[in-house]
Amino acid sequence: MNLDLAKKALKKYFGYEEFRPMQDKIIQAIYQKKDCVVLMPTGGGKSMCFQIPAVTSEGLCVVVSPLISLMKDQVDGLLTNGIPAAYMNSTLTGADQLTVENEILNGKTKLLYVSPERLLSSGFFSFLKQANISLIAIDEAHCISQWGHDFRPEYTKLKLLKQHFNHVPIVALTATADKITRKDIINQLELKNPETFLASFDRPNLSLKVSPGKNRLQQIKDFIDLRSGESGIIYCLSRKNTEDLVQKLQVSGIQAAAYHAGMSSEERSKTQEEFVNDSISIICATVAFGMGIDKSNVRWIIHYSLPKNMEAFYQQIGRAGRDGLPSDTLLFYSFGDIIILRKFIEESNQKELLEAKLKRMQQYAESYICRRKILLSYFNEHLAEDCGNCDVCKNPPEQFDGTVIVQKALSAISRLNQRVGMTMVIDVLRGSGRKDIIQRNYHKIKTYGAGANLSNSEWQQFILQMINMGFIEVAYDDFNILKLTPESKEVLYNGKKVDLVRLSAIKKKDEAKKSVRTKKKRKHEIVRDELFEVLRQLRRNLAREKGVPPYLVFTDATLSEMSRLRPTNEADMSEISGVGQKKLEQFGEIFINEILKFIKDKSTSGAKISGTTTKVTLYYFNQGKSIEEIGKERGLNEDTIHSHLASLIEEGEKIDVSKFITPVEYQQVKHAVSATGNRDRLKDLYEDLNEEISYSKIRYALAMMNKA
Ligand code: ADP
Ligand code: ZN
Repeated sequence: MNLDLAKKALKKYFGYEEFRPMQDKIIQAIYQKKDCVVLMPTGGGKSMCFQIPAVTSEGLCVVVSPLISLMKDQVDGLLTNGIPAAYMNSTLTGADQLTVENEILNGKTKLLYVSPERLLSSGFFSFLKQANISLIAIDEAHCISQWGHDFRPEYTKLKLLKQHFNHVPIVALTATADKITRKDIINQLELKNPETFLASFDRPNLSLKVSPGKNRLQQIKDFIDLRSGESGIIYCLSRKNTEDLVQKLQVSGIQAAAYHAGMSSEERSKTQEEFVNDSISIICATVAFGMGIDKSNVRWIIHYSLPKNMEAFYQQIGRAGRDGLPSDTLLFYSFGDIIILRKFIEESNQKELLEAKLKRMQQYAESYICRRKILLSYFNEHLAEDCGNCDVCKNPPEQFDGTVIVQKALSAISRLNQRVGMTMVIDVLRGSGRKDIIQRNYHKIKTYGAGANLSNSEWQQFILQMINMGFIEVAYDDFNILKLTPESKEVLYNGKKVDLVRLSAIKKKDEAKKSVRTKKKRKHEIVRDELFEVLRQLRRNLAREKGVPPYLVFTDATLSEMSRLRPTNEADMSEISGVGQKKLEQFGEIFINEILKFIKDKSTSGAKISGTTTKVTLYYFNQGKSIEEIGKERGLNEDTIHSHLASLIEEGEKIDVSKFITPVEYQQVKHAVSATGNRDRLKDLYEDLNEEISYSKIRYALAMMNKA
């Protein structure tokens, strides 16, 4: 088995030109019947690694997956690509199960998705032995390990697979596995000399941004404004949070739905379905949302509050941009969030571990170096260069000598006897005149009002930086009061200089400017123009008719490429990434006609788009109208319509010319051309042919010759 075949299948079934890094190596290893462990981030393209070997090999590929909710979707996806696939789990009726079994035994099915329960149920192995099994894929393989976060006891019995199917290669795939888990996977499955593939965890298509948690609602509205109609998720800390936010957004005319564990399971699955089907584009959710969905065109993620660790953060932003297209993430960060998260931690019995994890998250949020470097270093990966796609890279924070500011803050803390929290320190510095300040005589201390030139949020940012640099400590176990450290003495008494960094909240204008700038640079940007929206609507209707999610018809990336290149014939359509053979057959014509109709509507509404008048003729021609009718419709004479059709032939459109020119006439023109060498001057040709063959026919003949 060679990779050429694999590449052909990639094009034929999925409409893609190239493998992603590592996919080809994994496929190669599977062809060599090696066991493999594949670690690849969500959206990295794990499924392709077993789907391609499955369709290019004899026999059946068995895919073990614990995510029952995703099975139908995955199988539907394969079916729309023309790959015979089926699933077996507890949701299947007895009759359906029999059909599936029959098709497997008839050798029709290429991929079978099965839950571990069903796989291990009695008699199933002997059933499978009657089928010719080419490959076994274990999806979500981290579930096998007690060290993993999703341990499933039934997964540990999967070692039986190797014992029963000794010669069948096994590929174990996961998006989350550290070294111990990886080793465990290999041991438990009893893999033989497996090859391990570790893909990078970098998701370069996700932009990273952190913004101060001030005026979050306004910032969110501005952010969404620039992304209207795009799907996104806002992660909140609590149920109440999600509901409040939905309400506030709705007041501003932004449709959103809440999702949290307090809702009934029907409500939850309804919301999830509406999101998947693009009927709702924005979800305000607690962390529970997103686990069981596979939507590839989530375009943005906002974290309303700081997540409690980097794993959760990475997993949640990972739900954006699974189709590989640019997607944006925004994290709000405030000291208040830290206090809340700390409180949760206090109540846990793993306090130290959780604290350390939160600290790493905090470091990410407060970073003044490339955020992707910090994110990846958490997963032990080291980015050699700055990423260019995070806020720090795009807008390096401005450093300045902040010694005086730090001195003022430290002096205030000292004069307040290290007995108060951040809010009070700031109010004293700003000379707020609050009642309790006066009552406690804090207005008499020397630094009262010494920091009135800075805003509340500037003080918050700067004090966070001081905490970060070790000049201030927060007594989390003592009402979060601020305390001095040995370092602070250096600044207060020994004249140590300190640099601070100025950060800014996102402003709508900056964002808009930035997105225009990056749009030019990014090759794979989705263009959401008018045609894109038209095609999206068509996609939605087709998906509804077929009862599948819209992205299984075509992905956003595919629609975007269609709206950019406007293919009007099958050959051009099949060049679009994501249009495989089956989809071309199923949807090609419908989409081509929609594109032609769009061009026609545009040009009749007076918009002059160069090179499209022939396409308008093609639209009417494809509708089955006669030359005469097209001429009338367009207010053009019939000769012009014929010349349009001739040009279209030259451009590669398939047009049946038998009504317009006979084979004998074609031969006559061809003969005249080869006798005279004249291909350009119609009038001369007309005369050479004794004025017996019309100009239109000559045009058709020339077009066919030029094409051939
Ligand atoms: P994972 O299972 O790793 O989360 P998927 O297998 O669902 O990822 O793939 C994510 C997306 O990337 C899918 O839309 C898939 O069609 C697409 N994809 C996979 N491989 C390629 C490729 N070689 N070229 C283009 N797109 C690909
Ligand atoms: Zn960066």
